Amino acid sequence: MVKALGRISAVVLFLCYIAATIVESNFWGNLLSPVVTLIAASSVFKNFYIKQKVKLLKTSGLLLALSIYVWAACDLLWAFFDFVLKIDPEQVELITYGYSMTNVLLVGAVFLYLCYEFRNWNGIQVLLDSIVITICVFVLIWVVFFDQSIRNIIEVQSDWSSSLSICLDVVLFILITIWYFSIRNGMIPLFLRITPGGVVLYIIADIGYYYQYFYNSYVPNSLLDASYLVAFVLMAVGGITKMERSSDNGKRVFNNVGGKGKGILLIIAPVFLILFKGIEPQYLLILISTIMFYFMISSYIQKNIYKEALLFKEKQLNGELEQRINDRTEELLQKNKELDYMLNQDLVTGLYNRRYFHSHLKEMISTLGETERIALFYIDMNKYKMIKTMYGNYIADKVLFEMSKNLRKLTHNDDHSILATYGQDIFVFAKKVAYGYQEAIEISEEIIQLCSNLYQIEELEILVTLNIGCSIFPVDAKSEEELIKHADIAMSQARMLGFNKAMAFDSDLGNVIYQKNKIEIMLKKVNFQEDFMLYYQPQVNALDKSVIGFEALIRWKTKTGKFISPNEFIPIAEETGCIVPIGDWVMLQALSQLADWNKKSTTKFKMGINVSLKQLNGKQFIHRLKDEIERLSLRPEWIDIEITETIQLEENQEIRDIFEDIRNMGVSISIDDFGTGYSSLYYLKNLPIDRIKIAKPLIDRIDKDDFDYQIVKSVITISKVKKIKVIAEGVETLEQWTCLKNLECDEIQGYFFGKPMPKNEIEDKYIGR
Ligand code: C2E
Ligand code: CA
Repeated sequence: MVKALGRISAVVLFLCYIAATIVESNFWGNLLSPVVTLIAASSVFKNFYIKQKVKLLKTSGLLLALSIYVWAACDLLWAFFDFVLKIDPEQVELITYGYSMTNVLLVGAVFLYLCYEFRNWNGIQVLLDSIVITICVFVLIWVVFFDQSIRNIIEVQSDWSSSLSICLDVVLFILITIWYFSIRNGMIPLFLRITPGGVVLYIIADIGYYYQYFYNSYVPNSLLDASYLVAFVLMAVGGITKMERSSDNGKRVFNNVGGKGKGILLIIAPVFLILFKGIEPQYLLILISTIMFYFMISSYIQKNIYKEALLFKEKQLNGELEQRINDRTEELLQKNKELDYMLNQDLVTGLYNRRYFHSHLKEMISTLGETERIALFYIDMNKYKMIKTMYGNYIADKVLFEMSKNLRKLTHNDDHSILATYGQDIFVFAKKVAYGYQEAIEISEEIIQLCSNLYQIEELEILVTLNIGCSIFPVDAKSEEELIKHADIAMSQARMLGFNKAMAFDSDLGNVIYQKNKIEIMLKKVNFQEDFMLYYQPQVNALDKSVIGFEALIRWKTKTGKFISPNEFIPIAEETGCIVPIGDWVMLQALSQLADWNKKSTTKFKMGINVSLKQLNGKQFIHRLKDEIERLSLRPEWIDIEITETIQLEENQEIRDIFEDIRNMGVSISIDDFGTGYSSLYYLKNLPIDRIKIAKPLIDRIDKDDFDYQIVKSVITISKVKKIKVIAEGVETLEQWTCLKNLECDEIQGYFFGKPMPKNEIEDKYIGR
């Protein structure tokens, strides 16, 4: 509101002044001129100085404001001399010099502004424009204004201040023309049209003044003086526009790069010349050659600017390309790192994987000092598969991860050791040692201490136990592969001793390999009738202990009278394929025995026959079974086929079909060693089976370990739903039996009720009664 009032009064004052000049009122003119000028000066000061932030422009704004202030001061002095002292102000040097000061300050203001504007413009183009404009302006001034008559007057009339003022007017005009002429590209904001417009008007008024001055025709407070004031007001309006149109305040969008620009305007000069002076060949020649020269050089400069811009753009593009290549390379390096990590790391535990362990161990061996040794620990986590079956992959993996975290402590600050995940639930740890087995056993015990704990995984508590086997390079092996193999053998031996046991490989263990070869050879020469025999182990009803049948278990007595355990030779027989004739022989023997016993006895027993998956290949097994059943007049339901899973059965359609065929005959199928191999509760849903045999390791601590108890409980519960019978193996104590009875396990097999016995013993105890 105040602002609006202020503006309105300024406009009113200005109009009053104009009116005063029209009616040629000296009094009002002298009075209003300094007032209006002061207002204009203050507005310029505020908008071009105070509100300006760029230093150079601020100084330029200050000079502009000062130039108008000086003018206002001179106007005041003028009024003072005229009214008060009654002295003709035109004769007061102070006033005339003062008015010239405005020109000086204006040149300073415009010059500083141009310095700012030209900073980022093409310098050569600016220089060329300046030269051409200066030449044209000088030629015109020379020819048009400095004709003989005016030159005489000037010579007579001119003094120091008027000469200076005129020169400065010309300079001002040239500067502004150069600026305007040089702009080839972009929009000039409104305030930059109005303010320079004001300056140009000032120049015109000033030149007009001196013209009148030289001819002694100047009348104070005439329209000429009004033009001065209009010029100042225009400068002030420019400042207001600048402030009010914020879009004009941003970054300058015009420069001197671009097409033909305003070169065509130069034509004005010769046209002007002809208009004022007619055809003056020498001056015309100067102007035309200057203009031609201008066009030639200018197009050359602009081409160069264009080329430079292209080069700059190319550089920029190259830079961007380079940046992209760098980014891409960085990305590739990162991906390589990730790949490397994936190649060398186990994803579950974050430890090194088998591949990396092998290569690292190889390197450790190759750089091993003469007196140094490497101890290798083969660490097997017990019951991993069962945990997986019970709680799923997520929990099982978490247990592995927690265990690996504890194992990491082994390698802490030790550059001479490496820890890796070797198989799903197997870790390997190799370490340079100075001594031998004693040290290795101590480390094994440390590992057991570290890892055999109750792990809290989410809301579950899972007890982890392990077995460790260790071997030492170069005592036990000559290569890294052998070293690992021997530690594995030692671990298998340790497992037989129970959970949380460690064993070092020794030459006797080495004999295992030798033994294996020996058995392989002996198996090839074995005489079935003489060397093999069957033992039978009773299977009883869990509730009343009544014998429901027997499991046929093969025994091999060598010529030397030594027994070789089926645990030892059956895997070898399976490997070599001998299992097929051996299995046939067992089946024949067991079925004949069954026929005999069931003839003699009132109880009709079942016979459990262990059948290796290798025997089930093809239809041969089924045919033979069928033939035997018919030949011996057996009832198929007396026969139970026990299968130990060594592969994931439920995914193998061929085996599922054979199972179906067997069951269609009326023969039942049991899954042996449930809970130790690949077996999962999933089996119970999908495999066509009649019974599962819970493995001895799960029964061993059923009365002591809640985890094992819970597993067996779940297995029994689920089996009941699926109408699958459950028999517990390896029951050795009353407590175990009581537990199983409470869990409603259907059947029991184990030393507690009867060890595997030869035929006579069975007959004495159970047959014919
Ligand atoms: P399996 O089928 O799991 O047989 C049970 C094994 O546990 C038998 O060992 C048996 O003597 C033993 N056992 C039974 N109750 C107890 C107990 O309460 N305590 C202890 N400590 N052990 C008990 P065996 O006879 O040495 O047989 C070992 C494995 O050899 C069998 O395990 C089976 O997988 C395989 N096998 C035995 N006979 C044959 C056969 O005729 N054909 C095939 N393919 N494999 C056979
Ligand atoms: Ca069995």
